[in-house]
Amino acid sequence: MSILIYADSNNGALTKNAFEAVSYGAQLAQQTGSSAVAIVTGTVSGIEDLGKYGVSKVLHASDASLDNFDPQKITHVIAEAAKSVGADTIIFSHDYSGKSVAPRLAAKLDAGLVTGAISLPNTDGGFIVKKAVFSGKAFAFVEVNSATKIVSVLPNSIEKKIGEGSATVEAFSVEIPSTNLKVKEVRKESTELSLTEADIVVSAGRGLKGPENWGMIEELAKELGAATACSRPVADIGWRPHHEHVGQTGFAIRPNLYFAIGISGAIQHLAGVNGSKVIVAINTDAEAPFFKAADYGIVGDAFEVVPKLIEAIKKL
Ligand code: FAD
Repeated sequence: MSILIYADSNNGALTKNAFEAVSYGAQLAQQTGSSAVAIVTGTVSGIEDLGKYGVSKVLHASDASLDNFDPQKITHVIAEAAKSVGADTIIFSHDYSGKSVAPRLAAKLDAGLVTGAISLPNTDGGFIVKKAVFSGKAFAFVEVNSATKIVSVLPNSIEKKIGEGSATVEAFSVEIPSTNLKVKEVRKESTELSLTEADIVVSAGRGLKGPENWGMIEELAKELGAATACSRPVADIGWRPHHEHVGQTGFAIRPNLYFAIGISGAIQHLAGVNGSKVIVAINTDAEAPFFKAADYGIVGDAFEVVPKLIEAIKKL
């Protein structure tokens, strides 16, 4: 029996979520006495580092046509890799690529799929996966009965185990099918920190009054090494780009530290951020709903509090 883990990459480097997924797969392999193998696609450096996360072998399908993300091609490559290693369980991160490849692969392999797992499956006589539902308000325990099982792991929900191991990297050559997806243009990748992978996120809402006031939010984020985010109305009215919008209809994030500045804490916003480990809310209204979800609350004017925070952090 073997477990195959898709280690995703971005701009030629493995993503933080890839290391998490590999660690999850390796821990599951240890629990079930299986072997764990990772698969990497396209031109990627630092693949050997995956050994430290518990896999002893990495298959590398390095065909340059896999450099631009095409879920149909990646699905085909992973299906072939699964066949070649006899994988009965395939692991993804529940991120952009996992969300688009895992369901395609499940259909192709007639496999049971559980998305957004938050802990290792219970494998005592079955295969039961725990996931959060209703925006984290309840848990579901999903039993997978199919011969092949696919699990996607919610980012930032498991502890990565890092050891001293090393992995052998094997070239994995497979015929890449032509697909109906054609990349017309590749825009230069932004140097901004990825919102879904950031450890710290500084987010602001309508309380900031206008786009011209985001300088202090960006400065605070820069001092903390954080990504920036915003509430939905802020993106809707064009104060900030849509790719910063978090919540039920935006990105769901689970950073270690989330700053909510001038955001009321509506249920639709909380749905995307309440998995954060620590939440700090700054709001002039002591009755703002965010204070109920926050670990730390500052009742005060963002225009006074944020500059003071920046000043204090600079002194650290
Ligand atoms: P407001 O509700 O206007 O709140 C501004 C806050 O700033 C207030 O609490 C105020 O006290 C505070 N404030 C004002 N001045 C200051 C100051 N100087 N300093 C500090 N604090 C100050 N919203 C999302 O964010 N994400 C979603 O994904 C999302 N999806 C939705 C889906 C549906 C179907 C619907 C119906 C709504 C959705 N919404 C979503 C909208 C959501 O209901 C709220 O309207 C929205 O989150 C409010 O944004 P806000 O907190 O920035 O603005």
